[in-house]
Amino acid sequence: MTRRKTGPDRGTVELVRWRDRDKCRRCRAVGEQIHHRKPRGMGGTRDESINSPANLVLLCQACHGWVETFRTEAREQGWLVSQHADPRYQPIDHEGRLTFLTADGKAVPETTTNHHEGDHLMSRKPSTTGTEAMTVEEARQLLGIGRNQAYEAVRRGDIPSLRIGDRILVPRRRLMALINGDVEEPDRG
Ligand SMILES: [Zn+2]
Repeated sequence: MTRRKTGPDRGTVELVRWRDRDKCRRCRAVGEQIHHRKPRGMGGTRDESINSPANLVLLCQACHGWVETFRTEAREQGWLVSQHADPRYQPIDHEGRLTFLTADGKAVPETTTNHHEGDHLMSRKPSTTGTEAMTVEEARQLLGIGRNQAYEAVRRGDIPSLRIGDRILVPRRRLMALINGDVEEPDRG
């Protein structure tokens, strides 16, 4: 009787180790353990994202212990991903820097603005100038919603978005229309 293997294959492990440079992604100590951000669950899985590089992160033993102990914080920071979420859209938030892990083994930082300026962003008038697209982080600050909420909304299509390579961008005009309550109505001729 053969036991079903539930872990990532060797190539994936190598890719994750290479991406994380054999270091713990959280504290930069020697990376010892491949951590599944979205848990494997009982008795194997059919969820392909479980063993995707997007779901795997190299941690040292201490940080792995931290993640398992402080699950709420770990979830907020993206070290843990809920069963129904897609790890590709759940960035790791480490020391104020967001990083997306992609399915093809890249770690893509999201450039953020205003990240450390506190929670009074709703009182600020959203800028209607500047680049035509913004990051999800900027969009969520304009909307005054949480990070997980924002990525879920993008995934559901509630926040308009476009993907360019590994990046997710929010078209400014469409978001502003949404905020201002402009309804995209078809012409009634
Ligand atoms: Zn560590």
